[in-house]
Amino acid sequence: MIASDKSTYKWKIASPVSVAHFSLYKLSRILLKHLEKLGFHMVNSEKREHGSIGEREIFMGHECIAINGADHGVTVTASFLSKGKYATRDIQCHFLVGTDGTGRSVRKSLGISMRGEKDLQKLVSVHFLSQELGQYLINRRPGMLFFIFNKDAIGVLIAHDLKQGKFVLQVPFYPPQHKLEDFSSEMCKRLMFKLAGLELKDVNVMDIKPWVMHLEVAEKFLSCNNRIILAGDAAHRFSPAGGFRTQSVCACIMYRKGALVSEDDSVLNVHEAPTGRRRDYIPCSEPGSRLPHMNVKLLSIQSSKHPFKESYCLARAALEVASKFKLPLKVCVMWPNGSSDGAGRTEAALTPWKSFEEVVEVKRSSDSPSWWDIC
Ligand SMILES: Cc1cc2nc3c(=O)[nH]c(=O)nc-3n(C[C@H](O)[C@H](O)[C@H](O)COP(=O)(O)OP(=O)(O)OC[C@H]3O[C@@H](n4cnc5c(N)ncnc54)[C@H](O)[C@@H]3O)c2cc1C
Repeated sequence: MIASDKSTYKWKIASPVSVAHFSLYKLSRILLKHLEKLGFHMVNSEKREHGSIGEREIFMGHECIAINGADHGVTVTASFLSKGKYATRDIQCHFLVGTDGTGRSVRKSLGISMRGEKDLQKLVSVHFLSQELGQYLINRRPGMLFFIFNKDAIGVLIAHDLKQGKFVLQVPFYPPQHKLEDFSSEMCKRLMFKLAGLELKDVNVMDIKPWVMHLEVAEKFLSCNNRIILAGDAAHRFSPAGGFRTQSVCACIMYRKGALVSEDDSVLNVHEAPTGRRRDYIPCSEPGSRLPHMNVKLLSIQSSKHPFKESYCLARAALEVASKFKLPLKVCVMWPNGSSDGAGRTEAALTPWKSFEEVVEVKRSSDSPSWWDIC
């Protein structure tokens, strides 16, 4: 057992990592520190206005203004501020990952459009400080997310840090009845009083920014001979409130009619009504269900233990069908923890197919159950 508490145990089985609430600006600092540990370093662009960019160098404050993709590489033109003036530099790269969020410049310059639903809701995000509100919530209603509806106001309050009194308030707004200019610091303070139901004395509004909720996905993520890759919000945007739940429900409600055949009908009942809630997740390897989490690493040394012959037959059949219907399919051959020697049997068993990857289970701890037992 991983933990004595039953529910914690189930959660850890579902995934070894849990959701966490962490502000983006804190995360960015941690990511930069980790990059430094990996040998990357930040370069002062004022001191290096010219010249090429070397390996593991980070240039902050650069805005991508043009992209030129060719078969052999990508040239990015970036604009940056140097000694009070804007300058530009061309950066040559083998690959470009477009993670400019809703900034759109990479995607737009490639002519890739978005599909989905635009403009679901306009909102204003108000970043403010109030230790008084923090203390009040600690004493009366400790929590992280507060959905507040009353006759005077509507808003979602996100407590980034109750002790330090750091908050973000999300307020829906409806043009043309509302104008963005109406959201002054004073107006936001009054709104906060209405939402909290008390006059707070120390509210300090730091920032007020509008944003629009979209549910969209780019029509493709790769371009220029696969040298330019869209990732993150540049590739897909979703609602921060509902997106996570919608994704997990989709992942649970799968692929159980037609070609998917269960080995044992009685098992099907277990998953009859998937809820998408993590606490309701029951690990199992039944066809059509969501596989339990498994830590793996690529198997570079070959294994002597042969997976079931039937598994290879299934893999071959699937590869043949995929090839017939021109579908991209990759088979993952999973070896139990401790498989470490032997010859390339998968290669022999799946010849002529090359579209496979071999991984070996990495156990979370020596006494944690094996993935096969969990299944
Ligand atoms: C109000 C709100 C609340 C959210 N809450 C959550 C949450 O609780 N949990 C969660 O997981 N997600 C949440 N999200 C979603 C999450 O913020 C995004 O999915 C995530 O930030 C996307 O990361 P990204 O790196 O793809 O894009 P971004 O975080 O948008 O980063 C893009 C970066 O690219 C830069 N950029 C833009 N154009 C250019 C250019 N031309 N050249 C160079 N740089 C450029 C921008 O300045 C920015 O720094 C929320 C989103 C919103 C709007």
